[in-house]
Amino acid sequence: MDLAEMGIYTVEDILFYFPYRYDVFELKPLQELIHEDKVTIEGRIVHEPSLTFYGKKRSRLSFTVEVEEVAVKAVMFNRAFAKKQLNIDDTVTLTGKWDAHRLQITVNNYKKGPADEQASIQPVYSVKGNVTSYKIKKAVRTALQTCKDDINDFLPDTYLESYKLPGRLEAAAAMHFPEDRVQLKHARRRFIYEEFLLFQLKMQLLRKWNRESTSGNAQHYDPDRIKGFISSFPFTLTDAQQKALHQILNDMKSPYRMSRLLQGDVGSGKTAVAEVCLYASITAGKQGALMVPTEILAEQHFQSLQKTFGDRASIVLLTGSVKGKKRRELLLEVANGEVDIVVGTHALIQDDVHFRNLGFVIVDEQHRFGVEQRRVLREKGLNPDVLFMTATPIPRTLAITAFGDMDVSVINEMPSGRKAIETYWAKENTLERILQFIGKRVCEGEQAYVVCPLIEESDKLDIQNAVDLYDQLEEFYQNKVRVGLMHGRLSADEKENVMKEFADGDLDVLVSTTVVEVGVNVPNATIMVIYDAERFGLSQLHQLRGRVGRGKRQSYCILIADPKGETGKERMRIMTETNNGFELSEQDLQLRGPGDFFGKKQSGLPEFKVADMVHDYRALETARNDAATIIENDLLYCDPAYQQLNMYLEDNAMLHEKLD
Ligand code: ADP
Ligand code: MG
Repeated sequence: MDLAEMGIYTVEDILFYFPYRYDVFELKPLQELIHEDKVTIEGRIVHEPSLTFYGKKRSRLSFTVEVEEVAVKAVMFNRAFAKKQLNIDDTVTLTGKWDAHRLQITVNNYKKGPADEQASIQPVYSVKGNVTSYKIKKAVRTALQTCKDDINDFLPDTYLESYKLPGRLEAAAAMHFPEDRVQLKHARRRFIYEEFLLFQLKMQLLRKWNRESTSGNAQHYDPDRIKGFISSFPFTLTDAQQKALHQILNDMKSPYRMSRLLQGDVGSGKTAVAEVCLYASITAGKQGALMVPTEILAEQHFQSLQKTFGDRASIVLLTGSVKGKKRRELLLEVANGEVDIVVGTHALIQDDVHFRNLGFVIVDEQHRFGVEQRRVLREKGLNPDVLFMTATPIPRTLAITAFGDMDVSVINEMPSGRKAIETYWAKENTLERILQFIGKRVCEGEQAYVVCPLIEESDKLDIQNAVDLYDQLEEFYQNKVRVGLMHGRLSADEKENVMKEFADGDLDVLVSTTVVEVGVNVPNATIMVIYDAERFGLSQLHQLRGRVGRGKRQSYCILIADPKGETGKERMRIMTETNNGFELSEQDLQLRGPGDFFGKKQSGLPEFKVADMVHDYRALETARNDAATIIENDLLYCDPAYQQLNMYLEDNAMLHEKLD
């Protein structure tokens, strides 16, 4: 193993191969040491160290040191050789994990002699094979010497001055060999800003090129007909809906291709906005498409669109289960323009689907839709305006990083007259009372969901859980309540049937694995019981909760959970305290970190070396605004102060790779 195998080829590579963390050796009084923290203590050895061996190569060296007249026990694992070096009466400085209850330190670093006056900060590198930290440090020192004059700062001076950031070389040196915390902090600040700015410039340039490369698709819709359509709704749009609609309509009439994310809590009325946009597109003589993640959802959207549009549009449903002759007929109608709106799943963008004149595409629950599908659309030579809708409010910090190449509209207001859902956190032993409560509501003609334990990567267990719970409910209610069961193993038809029965009110309670998670709309359902709620993220819980509270009646969400850890308890508390999806998503992000937020499959998030989207969100906002100013004013090309920055962007090929 050598440096090259670690991806380090040039002097610059090594210079910017930063430590992944730092060990801080700072002496503190015993009193101030925190249990389980990494600490440094200084003391005198009062007993001859004793060494014991166990297993093949394992050993344990233990000894007692006197620190501030207190006897502290020290243990060191697998460092038998240290026995020779540590003798009675030696003064030693030990660093390791502190056990405040047993007054014991598990040493992972020791030094003979007293501690340094000043805290020493030691870089820790991620190393492989025989490339040691020592080797890296040495290479870094050499690199700092040799390329002193080659590292120029591509950030314009005005930025360094106004943010008080150190220059690039100085900051790099401080990242490796910080003299103190303050110096390290400023060095980090510098690279955090640099990373964010470069990333934002890249995203915003992409967005700009995207727009400019697609001129000529202005949609000339008919404002009067749109107004008429809106007034046919049984409600008036909220201010937030109107604002979002206005933004989208503006994009549609512009000659550029729209790529916009519409965020809004479940039930905030995104679909209503989307319907107006689809209609606008139709008045402009174009076709529209609505893509959703599951067949059930497609079916539901199809029905509700038909209701809303009446004879204003010809709408078809195109899913994987539409096959054979039926499919061929539909495709023909789509191709010759008889069809105005196509609703469907991924099947909607398969090879054999050709639109006559596709103007507007809505992708619902965007984060479940792969980047891939977006690319396919584009590759079919279709340049429609695209609206991505998501009911999982995405924290602002993530939205501007993951979707930095998109515009964002937010519906941050609920239609008036909705009752806030009451959320309770219960232990499993209260199940009987919960079932009684459900029974009562059912007598009043209401319906309930019971969502089952989710066991990762085990469809079988998921189903077993659902089946067991279903049996339990059947036994409890003795046919007085009609209970249905739905899980992932049912065929699409079976699922649809169960869902339909529930939606039609032929079932009172639906026991289900999380397949109900996505978007189904049964306004008569007022209770959502979630089993093992601690296994879900906040956003997911919120999503599930959003299945109720859709009608006029008071709705309830009951979380059955017995979380062991503090984070789990915190989650449950947060759920009971807020109904605001955006607030929750911010909290979720704090608790889970950006990687977990979208789930592993498709995070789409960039990786930063130094920066952290959650903790450094202020820097992210700043960088985003600065990038916007730079792009809007074309500074990269027009202002000599930005020439270096522009060259850096080009040299690093940052602008050549496409994001999707
Ligand atoms: P979302 O797609 O954001 O989950 P929907 O558009 O499906 O929300 O709306 C949820 C429910 O609220 C639907 O029954 C819809 O008819 C209704 N609704 C939408 N907008 C309004 C409004 N401005 N006032 C009252 N009800 C509304
Ligand atoms: Mg919806």
